[in-house]
Formats: sequence, structure tokens, C-alpha cells
Amino acid sequence: MSAASAKILQEELEKKNVTLVAVSKTKPAQMIQELYDVGIKDFGENRPQEMAEKYELLAKDIKWHMIGNLQKNKVKYIAPFVHLIHSVTSAALLKTINKEAAKNERDIDVLIQIKIAEEDSKSGLDIEEAKELIKEINEGIYPHVNVRGYMGMATFTDDKDQVRSEFKELKSTGDTLAQLLGQNENYSDSDPVLSMGMSGDFEIAIEEGANMVRIGSLLFGSR
Ligand SMILES: *Cc1c(COP(=O)(O)O)cnc(C)c1O
Repeated sequence: MSAASAKILQEELEKKNVTLVAVSKTKPAQMIQELYDVGIKDFGENRPQEMAEKYELLAKDIKWHMIGNLQKNKVKYIAPFVHLIHSVTSAALLKTINKEAAKNERDIDVLIQIKIAEEDSKSGLDIEEAKELIKEINEGIYPHVNVRGYMGMATFTDDKDQVRSEFKELKSTGDTLAQLLGQNENYSDSDPVLSMGMSGDFEIAIEEGANMVRIGSLLFGSR
């Protein structure tokens, strides 16, 4: 897709209050720059070192989203600048993010990744595990982390009904969890982020309540 078409897509999404995260993993900084030049500022990466390298090369007002499994020992590479970590799947990871945020004298925004797909390869917490985590969060033991919402990935399948029902599940799980989290006084009252939808399924995700979509191959070509 050309940068001009990407801009049009971003504007269409904006009208629906949906944030476009352009997933630039494996793609060169030059391609990010082309989208940046038309006004796209949110980019998603799944490897901490790659994100840190691109951060160094590119404009400092880019909002970097960490999307993908994040190892605790790599949080340090992105902690100084990351905008939003979509992939929190454990208390241990949250603890590390909190520690690295404190070192950098900042707070870090995160999403809790919920498992909705059938595939075992897609990670995330189930609703009970997420409730446990939110209880801990509400105890105030991660003061440098702000939970902004939820992220999930649907099963990779042509079965649109299945994809839709998985997104519905994430939306309702997110709503339930948001109520729990709402009891935390550090929680902002802005709408929770619901990060769901990729190149192949973002339209369905938006119909089911996504307000952030993560689009890679449609924008940048296949990887
Ligand atoms: C790679 C990736 C995407 C983007 O996938 P496309 O199908 O290329 O749009 C979105 N979310 C996550 C978590 C990813 O790893």
C-alpha cells in the first residue's frame, strides 16, 4: 500500500475513534519514515532490540508499541521510550516493567494480553488469571505501570464467525476486567484500550469494539 493510501486508511479509522498502529517489524526504518512523513506516528514492533535501533534512527515523537512476547531481560532496551506494551502476560513481567520504568523515572502504559484464540501458539491470560493480576495491580505494588486496557489475537482462520466470536469474547472480558480495574484510584477514567484486529481481520475487530488495530502486511507488504 502506498503512503497516501495508508494515510487514507488512518483517517477512516480515526473517524471511528480507532488508532492505527502500523506494524513495522522486520521492515527498514526508511519504510517507517515514509509513513511518518504522511502523519502516521504509531508503530508496532515485536523485538526489543530492533525497536531500540529504529528509535535511535527516527523522529523522537514516534509512539512505539511493543506487541509480541516480551522477555523480562529485554524490557531494559525499550523502557526509556516505549509508548505502550501490548503483551503483558504475567505478574513477573509486570514487576520487571515496573522496575525498569522506575529506573528511567517514568511510568509505562501497558495492556494485558488475553488469550482468545484456539491456537496454543497465541499467548495470553485467561479471564481468571487476568482477574488475579488486576487484584495485585489494585494493591498498588506496580506504581510505575499503568494498565490502559486489553489486547488479543484471534485464531488465524478463514472462519469469520469464529474470529467474530473470539473478538466478542475479548470485548466482554475487557469490560468485566475494566470494572475491576476501575476500583483502582490510580486508574484513569478514559476508555480502556481494546487492541484487536490485524491485516486480515481488523474490520471485524472494529465492528466488535476494537479502538486500536495493529496492521502490518496490509501497509508494508508481506514479511
Ligand atoms: C505481526 C503482528 C501483527 C500484524 O500482523 P499483520 O497480519 O501483518 O497485519 C499484529 N499483532 C501482532 C501481535 C503481531 O505479532
